[in-house]
Amino acid sequence: MMNKQKSIWVFGDYRNYYQNRVTLQLLSRAVDLSRTLKAEVCAVLFGHDIEEWIMEYTAHGADRVLAIDHPSLTSYSTENYLALIEKLARERDPDIILIGATDFGREFAPRLAKRLQTGLSADCVGLDITSEGLLVQVAPSFGGNMLAEIVTERHRPQMATVRPGTFKEIPHNNERTAIVERLPLPADLPASRVRLVEYERAVQREHTIENATVIVCGGRGMGNKNNFKKLDELAGLLGGDVGATRPVVYAGWAGHDSLVGQAGKHIKPKILFSFGISGAIQHTAGLGEADFIVAINKNPQATMMKMADVAIVADSGDLLRHLIRELKKRIRE
Ligand SMILES: Cc1cc2nc3c(=O)[nH]c(=O)nc-3n(C[C@H](O)[C@H](O)[C@H](O)COP(=O)(O)OP(=O)(O)OC[C@H]3O[C@@H](n4cnc5c(N)ncnc54)[C@H](O)[C@@H]3O)c2cc1C
Repeated sequence: MMNKQKSIWVFGDYRNYYQNRVTLQLLSRAVDLSRTLKAEVCAVLFGHDIEEWIMEYTAHGADRVLAIDHPSLTSYSTENYLALIEKLARERDPDIILIGATDFGREFAPRLAKRLQTGLSADCVGLDITSEGLLVQVAPSFGGNMLAEIVTERHRPQMATVRPGTFKEIPHNNERTAIVERLPLPADLPASRVRLVEYERAVQREHTIENATVIVCGGRGMGNKNNFKKLDELAGLLGGDVGATRPVVYAGWAGHDSLVGQAGKHIKPKILFSFGISGAIQHTAGLGEADFIVAINKNPQATMMKMADVAIVADSGDLLRHLIRELKKRIRE
């Protein structure tokens, strides 16, 4: 019996292409892995008017492109895209499926894994192959303090989402060719329960909390939304950004964009002010690269105080007001 051709699939997520090239990064890693596995690299692509992406994925390492081009696929739809990839995966039985850990990928991949009755490692920061030919999925665990190497021994496909920026894309090569399969939209595609009413692109800021050099972070110990909003003033005076813990985001004192930690942003400021934050591991997982930490807390035993370079035992609101007043004075002098 002929051995089945092994295949590594990369889901083609081309939204925000110029900011986020995770699909190209995954293709690059898939090319490396395919050499060990003797597998083909296959980009799976849905949408409308997608010739540009077929060429792009070919030029960046795909040996095969499975493309479904149809006007009804113009905008991303988890429901539709799931139904399509599930059907293809059942028909073709890929060994590995890799998906970018974008907002879409984080929603899409677990659903696909559930439908295919297989495992999924989320937010991987490394991929490799064992001597037995299994995919090693390197994923942060225990709040980012450890890296787990996960293998899916019994179920197929082996699935992982991968953080953007983990791998380097290979240079664009116009000379490359791929087998392009242009597939029809299946007639039995279930009608989508979601209708896109409007599409508005979020304004992309060049400056983000992830590259800020000064960050003023606030937690539940800020007491209320008004006190929390004062952190903006301090950040403004210091030329920095404001970060927040999860309870604060849940309370609506800050937007989700400001969330720092395991479920939010990983920051690397030169100086971090931490106001009224206990230092739970899910929060500190995002602080690994902060150079210098000043913590303000009324409880000297708080974890955040212990990990700080300077720990100030004080009421966060009082200290914040003093600091703002002093800074304003010095700016005027
Ligand atoms: C799966 C999962 C993922 C999570 N991801 C994240 C994440 O990405 N980011 C995140 O932040 N959290 C995350 N969490 C939540 C996390 O576990 C903590 O609950 C959260 O970080 C605590 O936030 P906090 O420090 O603001 O609040 P608290 O833990 O309630 O701490 C408040 C602190 O303020 C101090 N304080 C109170 N009043 C004052 C005052 N007047 N002056 C000075 N200090 C005062 C207290 O002594 C205390 O230390 C996650 C949790 C789970 C389960």
